Amino acid sequence: MPGKSPYPHLLEPLDLGFRTLPNRVVMGSMHMRLEGEERGFEKLAAFYAERARAKAGLIITGGFAPNADSILGPGCAKLTTEDEVAEHRKVTEAVHREGGIICLQILHPGRYSQLDYAFAPSAIRSPISKVTPKAMTEEEIEQTIQDFADCALLARQAGYDGIEVMGSEGYLINQFTTRHVNQRTDRWGGTIENRIRFPLEIMRRTRAAVGEDFIIIYRLSMIDLVEDGNTQEEIIFQGQEIEKTGATIINSGIGWHEARIPTIAQMVPRAPFVEVIAAVKRVLSVPVVATNRINTPELAERILAMGQADMVSMARPFLADEAFVQKAMEGRADEINTCIACNEACLDYIFTERPASCLVNPRAGRELEIRIEPATEIKKVAVVGAGPAGLAYAITAAERGHKVTLFEAGPEIGGQLNLAVKIPGKEEFHETLRYYRKMIEKHGVDVRLNTHASSEELIKGNFVEVVLSTGVKARVPEIEGIDHPMVLSYEEVIEKKKPVGQRVAIIGAGGIGFDVAEFLTTPEGWKESQDADAFFGAWGVDKTVNTPGGLKPPEPEKSPREVYLLQRKATTHGRNLGRSTGWIHRLTIQKRKVHTIGGVTYRKIDDQGLHITVEGEDRVLEVDNVILCAGQEPNRDLHDALERAGVSSHLIGGAEEALELDARRAIDIGTRLATRT
Ligand code: NAP
Ligand code: SF4
Repeated sequence: MPGKSPYPHLLEPLDLGFRTLPNRVVMGSMHMRLEGEERGFEKLAAFYAERARAKAGLIITGGFAPNADSILGPGCAKLTTEDEVAEHRKVTEAVHREGGIICLQILHPGRYSQLDYAFAPSAIRSPISKVTPKAMTEEEIEQTIQDFADCALLARQAGYDGIEVMGSEGYLINQFTTRHVNQRTDRWGGTIENRIRFPLEIMRRTRAAVGEDFIIIYRLSMIDLVEDGNTQEEIIFQGQEIEKTGATIINSGIGWHEARIPTIAQMVPRAPFVEVIAAVKRVLSVPVVATNRINTPELAERILAMGQADMVSMARPFLADEAFVQKAMEGRADEINTCIACNEACLDYIFTERPASCLVNPRAGRELEIRIEPATEIKKVAVVGAGPAGLAYAITAAERGHKVTLFEAGPEIGGQLNLAVKIPGKEEFHETLRYYRKMIEKHGVDVRLNTHASSEELIKGNFVEVVLSTGVKARVPEIEGIDHPMVLSYEEVIEKKKPVGQRVAIIGAGGIGFDVAEFLTTPEGWKESQDADAFFGAWGVDKTVNTPGGLKPPEPEKSPREVYLLQRKATTHGRNLGRSTGWIHRLTIQKRKVHTIGGVTYRKIDDQGLHITVEGEDRVLEVDNVILCAGQEPNRDLHDALERAGVSSHLIGGAEEALELDARRAIDIGTRLATRT
């Protein structure tokens, strides 16, 4: 029975019959891309051990291939040999030393393979793959089933407490279970009974191989979000048949990777798919895990208290804060560094072949490299500028014991984060601001708001270290008429809420140009990022999953303005946005009929509007306002003044390199510098 704890359902143990999980929190599978690194398994072991020490209930590793042909891409991980078993033991022993429980995920990507060949039930290429897969022969299917069972047995030998069979997200098993890719006419295709034969055989043979006292989780696609995906009736049938094969737990998967509906990005409201999962849970008897955009203990507790699931899976929240569960247990939820679903240092890193980390927590995946240890010599430190770089530096230095004074010219901490929170769909940045406020209080940073720190004051203050995170100044391009009253900066529009007319031209189509375009075209009454039904309507999701794949026609979005988004480059707009989220921003402005024009030369601005030349043709955009989103220049005035006075200082964040200005880099640099102070 739930006891007297802040989150009684979340922290309640779960008896699986042959062993008991300490709480209802699953740390979901994430590919960290550490395995291929030098000392990769030591790094993985350190990463998981920190999470186990801080009481994550059940950890699931990233996906490991069951045979050499099913690795995700070059250099990706598998578990097929005794030598690999020895590497994996480093992980399981480290987790067990901390009292944790860990399962290995077995994943066959099928047609999502990034190798130059792939296998699938039918030879149909996915829209996100380079190669057309080979349709598997009966023998290849048979061998793959055996490979799953063999891999599970090796996992047991490596010391894992169980395995997860990856049956969702559009990977091989999911390709078999739906008509979307499975067009076979033999006993592996056609009816739902035939389509699920492949996972059922995998599960049966795996259970026979590993015995009864080993956790087997099956990750079931609860809604495919692709054409010709399964209906809820078919999904429930699959879940019930999977149960009969001896599954210990059914985990949830939401949407295929190729789906054109966001499922985990920041603009997705929290836990929108939980009703879809609950409908399947109601007819199953094994524990069912809820997932997707669950990032606070309050929300997880509510899902469990309402009986919508038996466990809650969070993956990225464990990158953002290894001690998520421990802080919840100790009533310190306000100290949790919350995952803001930006994907910028986790998925976007993986997609660009870098080991995953986290925008708000640069230590994630770098546990052996970035250590926050008590300072050997306590120093008096001044930090100027309370943007992400300054904040990250200040709280880390203070945590180490340094005496930190943080000067901020504005009335509040946050810097550019205060702009981000005002963009519809980016409200999660409020959590980051809350976290910094709490850490400032906890570690005793002396914050001086509304204070322009001068070089004289800094010199008089006798600080041992001076760290300048003075941020950026918006770039003002040299265009005739740039001081015309119709011209506004992005700060004036977002922060100061200056009135903006019906027809608008935006100069610059970087991250901020896109933000401003979305800000200005947001339909009245928009609440997609806060309300699941509004989100489903806008993106065309049938939450009853009565339609194949749970798709329905999206509702049109009516923009309140006509907007032109301009750039000098002739390349596609938004090419430099994050790999995992850029497509969502491009689709959003397309739905709102924003005019995107590239290859632009800006000629002048006057009462008529913005005069441009495109492909040799002169045009006048008769707009009410021109908004400047043309990037930034570093703000180094204070640095230069200190240098003239012979005082050395550290420049970090946008003040150091405005071109690379982004919160991820700022927090990383601030944190790392503080570990060396
Ligand atoms: P940015 O990404 O560098 O984009 C600046 C834009 O201004 C470009 O489109 C550039 O395109 C144009 N430009 C540059 N110099 C110009 C000039 N002299 N005259 C006219 N146009 C000029 O900068 P940002 O949009 O300010 O974003 C800053 C940083 O914030 C980015 O690096 C990004 O990481 C971060 N951010 C990211 C997001 C996101 O969604 N991931 C959102 C907001 C901010 P042309 O040179 O082709 O004209
Ligand atoms: Fe979450 Fe962003 Fe960190 Fe990824 S990078 S774990 S999405 S906060």
